[in-house]
Amino acid sequence: MLAGPELIRAINKQRVLRLIRGAGPLSRADAAEATGLTRPTISAVVAELLDEGWVVEVGTGESSGGRPPILLRFNPRARLVVGAELSAGHVRAVLADLSGVVRHRVKHRVESTDPLAELARVEQAIRELLAAVPGESGPGAVAGIGLGITGMVSATAGLWRYSPHFAVHDLPAADLLTERLGVPVLIENDARAMAWGERSFGAARGVDNLAYIRVGVGIGAGLIIRGQLYGGAHEGAGEIGHTIVDDDGPLCACGSYGCLEAVASAPAIARRAVERIQQGAASTISDLSNGDLNKVIGTTVIEAAHAGDPLARETLLEAGRYLGLAIGNLINLFNPAMVVIGGGTGLAGDELLQPVIAVAMARALPALRERVQIVETALGEDSCPMGGAAMVIEELFRVPSVG
Ligand SMILES: [Zn+2]
Repeated sequence: MLAGPELIRAINKQRVLRLIRGAGPLSRADAAEATGLTRPTISAVVAELLDEGWVVEVGTGESSGGRPPILLRFNPRARLVVGAELSAGHVRAVLADLSGVVRHRVKHRVESTDPLAELARVEQAIRELLAAVPGESGPGAVAGIGLGITGMVSATAGLWRYSPHFAVHDLPAADLLTERLGVPVLIENDARAMAWGERSFGAARGVDNLAYIRVGVGIGAGLIIRGQLYGGAHEGAGEIGHTIVDDDGPLCACGSYGCLEAVASAPAIARRAVERIQQGAASTISDLSNGDLNKVIGTTVIEAAHAGDPLARETLLEAGRYLGLAIGNLINLFNPAMVVIGGGTGLAGDELLQPVIAVAMARALPALRERVQIVETALGEDSCPMGGAAMVIEELFRVPSVG
């Protein structure tokens, strides 16, 4: 814990760095004027920032008489960050610079429900990333790792609390990976990390109130309220997949009936399409799965829909309508400026997005729907890893607080 002059120095340094990052290139005089710090303080702080590589000197600015001033620019390559995802299906990891430019990606399939085995897979993926960009990723080059994990996650305690897919209970995942990799690790719920990724680098840049809906094997929401991730009282906010959209609907994995997840998730879409085929409807889905309907998954239906298969399109339309109902309710509850649809099934395109928008807009209050945008993810599969990377970047530029 910093105190006294050291803390003041750290605060000044972060303020100047944030200023140059946000408003640069600018001169030392500009920095003094914008922060109210003295010229000697600015000079000392800038010398330190130059020495550590955070800023670079670039050319000269306009002279107001006398010698033209040297300008300072933020260096996005000063450090690298790692963002990662552990979902029920995949481990993904990216190595990015501080402006979110991805240098390398790694993807592996998740093969068990053992949380320790799959965290070891995350560790392996990160080691592969670091090995893939030699020279740039030596000791000290990677500032931190941000990991989005499926299930209930306490970001503040670094605990992976619970997941319906993995046999996990209050696992100290952040400490465990920090110890193994020797780099600080932050963890967050995956849907929340995705929301943060879209806000930092994707479809929702600069949007302070938004919901990211992840549609895949499960359905979850990441909520950002007033520019902050919202986790609720016990880190459980955003379980939109278990809001009821059909009172007489099918049994959900949670034990309830008619949850959104039971009618609009990837497995629900696959199941509904198969039911229709078994009832005698014709569809190219049978060919796509080589006649084995047990092999049909959500993406099989999406593929068939894209090729124009009427049954597949109808199935996505139905799922989209249920999603639209839930999103209409969410718009009425939270009044977001933007709703971003992502996840594996969320990438289905217009077959899913159009009914979502039509129903959500029909159900949301006119005053709220007029000003909300419902859009597809801009980051796709990178949403979660980029959210993890953005969490680390946010932490790097945080101004230390007094007391
Ligand atoms: Zn449920």
